[in-house]
Amino acid sequence: MISNSEFVSAAKHMGFNKIFFLPADDIPTDYGKLVSSPKEALPGAKTLILLIMPYELAENTGSREGVISTYYRASQKAYKGTKELTYILINSGAHAVYNSNIPLKSAIVKYNIGIQRLNSLTYIDGIGSAFHIQNIITDNEFELDRLAADIYPADCSKCMRCVNACPGKAISDTGYIDPDRCLRSVSEKKEIPKEVESLLGNRLLGCDVCQMVCPHNKVFGSERSFTYPLKKLLKGDLGDLPDIIGPNLARKTRMICKACVLAANNKRTDLLPLLEELARSKDIFVLAAAKRAIDRLEEKQ
Ligand code: SF4
Ligand code: SF4
Repeated sequence: MISNSEFVSAAKHMGFNKIFFLPADDIPTDYGKLVSSPKEALPGAKTLILLIMPYELAENTGSREGVISTYYRASQKAYKGTKELTYILINSGAHAVYNSNIPLKSAIVKYNIGIQRLNSLTYIDGIGSAFHIQNIITDNEFELDRLAADIYPADCSKCMRCVNACPGKAISDTGYIDPDRCLRSVSEKKEIPKEVESLLGNRLLGCDVCQMVCPHNKVFGSERSFTYPLKKLLKGDLGDLPDIIGPNLARKTRMICKACVLAANNKRTDLLPLLEELARSKDIFVLAAAKRAIDRLEEKQ
């Protein structure tokens, strides 16, 4: 059996800075597609471990290449670390799974680890909202954390900075986020709706505006947003992107299509020859994205 301190030490080594050992009880959630019972994911489960990997919010430098939010690097690092920690538990003789369907935001709120604010993000005292969260469900008998019974309330009503600053106008004053207008969620799609394409600017993946303006985040460390050359993307050269942001988000067609949108947004007429080539592609998504970018660059639309 692995002790709390042994597990925490391994998790910290992988970059997690807060680790919570919680009961494997049901977690209330409004989202029907999420599993609310850790015991459904692992019969006999005794502990739900929450693993918090913070990251530094970074200014968008205004580059005319593809900018990737620092969140995605943390997310991939956390995913890899969680896999390793799960194997450590399994190798010690325990059963353990990591489950992407556990409603982790709801777990944070249920156990008073943090609160949800108007931009829909959860905030943890001392970290803010800039963190990625993972979980492991296990039957290893850890000593469970005793968490505060009460927590400070969200105080958003007099602020509304995120509502006003959101480039996609995606946040309602009741805290509903429209996923079709949230640039973070739009940037993860393969096809970018015409109504929001220009709002993406240089964002290849992610948008941090509602976190950057929030007074509850301590912003700006030494971290820089990661940029990737549009020219390479249009050539289908993803370099080490699959390793940095994960193969799922770094799918070639998806990246080429988004590079087309960003080329037009950033008036990259130097990329027209590459776009002309892509406009003859056999892939209908690439072909459509390239033609649209050419039309926008030539100001036909
Ligand atoms: S991530 Fe960007 S687009 Fe989405 S709600 Fe926040 S500020 Fe708006
Ligand atoms: S920016 Fe203001 S309104 Fe938005 S989440 Fe932060 S405190 Fe709340």
